[in-house]
Amino acid sequence: MSARTKYLLDESDMPTRWYNIAADLPEPPPPPLHPGTGEPVGPDDLAPLFPQALIAQEVSSERYLEIPGAVLDVYRLWRPSPLFRARRLEKALDTPARIYYKYEGVSPVGSHKPNTAVPQAYYNAAEGVTRLTTETGAGQWGSALAFAAATYGLSCEVWQVRASYDQKPYRKLMMETYGATVHPSPSELTAAGRAILADHPDSTGSLGIAISEAVEMAAADPQARYALGSVLNHVLTHQTVIGEEALRQFELAEDSPDVLIGCTGGGSNFGGLAFPFLREKLAGRSTAVIKAVEPAACPTLTRGRYAYDFGDTAGLTPLLKMHTLGHRFIPDPIHAGGLRYHGMAPLLSHIYELGLIEAQAIGQRDCFAAGVQFARSEGIIPAPEPTHALAACIDEALRCKESGESKAILTALCGHAHLDLPAYGAYLSGSMVDNELAEDQLSRSLAELPTP
Ligand SMILES: *Cc1c(COP(=O)(O)O)cnc(C)c1O
Repeated sequence: MSARTKYLLDESDMPTRWYNIAADLPEPPPPPLHPGTGEPVGPDDLAPLFPQALIAQEVSSERYLEIPGAVLDVYRLWRPSPLFRARRLEKALDTPARIYYKYEGVSPVGSHKPNTAVPQAYYNAAEGVTRLTTETGAGQWGSALAFAAATYGLSCEVWQVRASYDQKPYRKLMMETYGATVHPSPSELTAAGRAILADHPDSTGSLGIAISEAVEMAAADPQARYALGSVLNHVLTHQTVIGEEALRQFELAEDSPDVLIGCTGGGSNFGGLAFPFLREKLAGRSTAVIKAVEPAACPTLTRGRYAYDFGDTAGLTPLLKMHTLGHRFIPDPIHAGGLRYHGMAPLLSHIYELGLIEAQAIGQRDCFAAGVQFARSEGIIPAPEPTHALAACIDEALRCKESGESKAILTALCGHAHLDLPAYGAYLSGSMVDNELAEDQLSRSLAELPTP
């Protein structure tokens, strides 16, 4: 095998279709339910929030969805993204494992999020929508949607989780540079925000609260629609460009992954990389073990209940069958803001229930130790979220060292940390703590799950 470090595709090799894994599952995921009637929601229920094209994709049973040419044109600004062989990290670990990472930090905003922000903005613009509202945790999704909205001439309003708004002023400036308006969440602008502030004036916010605010604003304006950066089927489907490219890059490498590891907040970067490989596995062409890694302070898959729950804190969304900590659960303000969500994508939760993937939770100090080790060997400083996957990757590589096995390990390096350096500062200064899972809060919020 040659000593190549990067496996690059030509623009002409970019996938032209997204992969919809729902078409290949042994049974379909349970449908979203209307909280009032307990019946499956129909397109009309979703029309105030999403354009028709995305509603159709959400419920599609087609295996492949054509990527519009106008979306491919924007994708070409950074896609195809590189697949790296982490030779220097392998050397530092003295492992016989072959470590690969698919790097999404090459996008304009530094993460995988534009892979779905661009098509979402495109379909909204095509249906005459003029304004998009959304939430952002780490600031990555808000930046991505702000960029995509600017591309198609839409206005964009972002509710940024308070903890992140205070920690990450540069994310706010980035969104404003793209022309978006940014509010800290909870805000006084919405009934949902005011209700939280009345009870908790110092609330650090959560993704669930910020979603309530953005949904409330979009529902009140017929010209506006809401955009979600993770969790929903169409979002995970858009992200499959990552895995489709990686499959072709493994052909170039004349290799195939034995283990695939990604971090999960709502499940989109993980699903995006993993689903095309899972298709191969379901078809008997791969035996890869596929593993999701989540924060110990927000362990949705490993500690949450598989139940119907709201996607937001105020209970404005349809009920989604998913692994959930309870929609009122507010995770500690860990640095991986993108992983602070109380639920997990229904599609991924279903796949986990089917036993097709594994899951593991890791504390943030171990994650940042892995992030620093990765940065010092590979050069790229990983966003706080993918350090979770890297910690598991390094563990796997060290197990290979012990057993002498030479496994191929693939991970999703879904973003860089250029705007998250204060988190590394906390780690390097020794002030970072391992947030405990708030057990009391968890049992309370699980007891409050809605009954459909
Ligand atoms: C948003 C984000 C996440 C978490 O969301 P997923 O849908 O689980 O991918 C993880 N990493 C980065 C860099 C993000 O921006």
